[in-house]
Amino acid sequence: MRAEILLEGIVQGVGFRPFVYRCAVRNRLVGYVQNRQDAGITIVVEGSGRDVKRFIRELKNNRPPLAKVDSLVVEYARPKGEFTDFRIVNSARVREITGSVVPPDISICQECLKDLRDRSNRRHKYFFITCTDCGPRYTTIRDTPYDRSNTTMQKFPMCRHCHEEYIEPMDRRFHAQTIACAQCGPKVYLTDNDGGLVGSEDPIRDASRLLDEGYILAIKGNGGFHIASATTRDDPIVRLRRTKHRAQKPFAIMARDLETIKSFACVNSEEAALLESYVKPIVLLRKRQDFRLSDRIAPGLFNVGVMLPYTGLHFMLFEHAKEPAFIMTSGNPPDEPIATGNSEALKKLGPEVDFFLSHDREIAQRCDDSVVRVVGKNTMMIRRSRGYAPAPIYVDAKVDGCVLGVGGELNVTCCLLTQKKAFLSQHIGDIETPDTLQFLKRTIRHLSKLTRSEITKVACDLHPGFQTTRLAFEMGDKNELPVIKVQHHHAHTVKLMAENDVEEVVGIACDGFGHGHDGKAWGGEILHCSSNHYERIGHLQEHLMPGGDLATKYPLRMVATILYDVEDVEDWLGSKAAYFLYGEKEIEIVLAEIERKKGSYTSSCGRVLDAVSALLGICYSRTYEGEPAMKLESAAAYGKDDLKLQPRIQGEILDTRLLLEEIYRRRDSLPVADLACSAQSYLARGLAELAVLGAERLGVPTIGFSGGVAYNEQITLAIRDFVQERGFRFIMHNRVPPGDAGISFGQAIVASKTF
Ligand SMILES: [Zn+2]
Ligand SMILES: [Zn+2]
Repeated sequence: MRAEILLEGIVQGVGFRPFVYRCAVRNRLVGYVQNRQDAGITIVVEGSGRDVKRFIRELKNNRPPLAKVDSLVVEYARPKGEFTDFRIVNSARVREITGSVVPPDISICQECLKDLRDRSNRRHKYFFITCTDCGPRYTTIRDTPYDRSNTTMQKFPMCRHCHEEYIEPMDRRFHAQTIACAQCGPKVYLTDNDGGLVGSEDPIRDASRLLDEGYILAIKGNGGFHIASATTRDDPIVRLRRTKHRAQKPFAIMARDLETIKSFACVNSEEAALLESYVKPIVLLRKRQDFRLSDRIAPGLFNVGVMLPYTGLHFMLFEHAKEPAFIMTSGNPPDEPIATGNSEALKKLGPEVDFFLSHDREIAQRCDDSVVRVVGKNTMMIRRSRGYAPAPIYVDAKVDGCVLGVGGELNVTCCLLTQKKAFLSQHIGDIETPDTLQFLKRTIRHLSKLTRSEITKVACDLHPGFQTTRLAFEMGDKNELPVIKVQHHHAHTVKLMAENDVEEVVGIACDGFGHGHDGKAWGGEILHCSSNHYERIGHLQEHLMPGGDLATKYPLRMVATILYDVEDVEDWLGSKAAYFLYGEKEIEIVLAEIERKKGSYTSSCGRVLDAVSALLGICYSRTYEGEPAMKLESAAAYGKDDLKLQPRIQGEILDTRLLLEEIYRRRDSLPVADLACSAQSYLARGLAELAVLGAERLGVPTIGFSGGVAYNEQITLAIRDFVQERGFRFIMHNRVPPGDAGISFGQAIVASKTF
């Protein structure tokens, strides 16, 4: 019998061909296996009918751990007798399937780790150790098929030893495209911040010593540069904050091992599983009360982002270090994407660091570390990047052609939706500089090349001023493609529906800002949604934003506007004059603006949380996205809902002035933590009640919660409990980020159903 088998899914770069080879040989079959340019695999076998059937059964049941088979199509035929053995043949230039899959980067596997530590192994202490089960993929692949010549390993010809392993079917590195060793592979070296080579016999050991001593290093990894420093001393972190212009924004850290993490953070079983998964994301963990690392790592926050080492180089750094953990933050100048090229890094990061630990392998694709958080027992993606992207998210949608979603303005990703797969890109960033816009354009081109898809429709935000909106229309004009504008919170809710395979929902979408169809700033919305249609059935009370964006940066302005007609509030504001840029004078101007109702209105949940944060003295000015609300959540984590304020709903509007007024009156009689907790509780119960009222009226059985506020554990769980107690199904995000990082996915889904 002859069988011709076509496989799709994550089948290249994960040891699939060696696995097929071994299966075939075991079953006495002849023929070949071949990578295709579309990232699929073709297998042709001939042998006895029983052997062929068993072989196919084994393909289905025993695949390599990292492989994911989406489709396996078999065609049987009469044997042609053309083969004498089974071979892995060179890749074919066949492109048929669109939307095939390039694997994400995979953290170092246990076997490679063993080799790295084994003195008798050829790769003992070789920093770039990988095999078919592990190593960079997306960040090293320039084109498909995934062969060495299409990766940034191309410039490192294999030595004789590596080549022998590469062609030995029983070897773990058989056809491992990133195979390398100290003789033939990338080299690591230490330089000063001008790029001058620092003579060193063991650059990695010297790098750990420098970090221990308080120096700041840029460290080149697989998908970009990290900036690293010690975590038990304040001085390097203070210096880093000054040069990076990051006064308060938390830094992620990398810790030696799980036991070490448990010495400064609380880790439950879900969090431990994520930390140790082959993705090795940054997991937000609650700090222990006796947090022993520097308070400058995540000032004012109850949690800290932690990851485990994920490359050979990381493990070697910790082997020599005294520090329990290192700061490992993306090496990006403010508002710019992660640096990748050596000369670019020297120029941009040189002023921020003392030394570079670099290597001579190029990076094909930038990719930041992923960030996740466990809410309830559910994983929430904050940043879906290294280790996840560009593996597709499967949706139950029939999509003709290929729809591109370009995202919004903050935390942008792009998304290609084709057939039943949504390829959500790695983290791009805030589209505020020409560099990030370029990065977005390059990523769109790269993703469509890797997935062999031709874009047939473009989706963007409703906001006319976003750079991404302009980009969408440019692409539309140039290629004569239809462009669909999608309202921000509609996109949020639809991405939640698509992820949970739900057709109709009453969605709660809460975040900082999204352009509403009435031209106002939305952000605390209850929407009745189907994929291509939505109706706004409720929202938070609208408040004036005196000074527009200034009210976002300085949340005391929101307090002033919400509590404007409360008697003694002017005096209270006066006592906070120091927190206004121009003191008393500015307060007068703000109050005059409010009096004249000058400015735009917002129903944003973020602005209310910010206002509470400022009112309670937790955070007066925002130095990074979400800061006041994150610090409010941190304060609330140690409080209880003692206010027990009943949400006041009028028509379809939740009164938030009542909340602020009540907190204002009780500010001296209740602890800050309890008031913070009570405020979040009021908003959660109020929003949930609005949603339940709408769902009951419309007869919709499902209620969901999306938007950046959904990262807040207390609010999400309170909404969930309220909704479930009233007999509704509650849905939340799990694979797609709740925040704006997932918007492109929602946009693409809406556009795919809009004609
Ligand atoms: Zn490995
Ligand atoms: Zn070698």
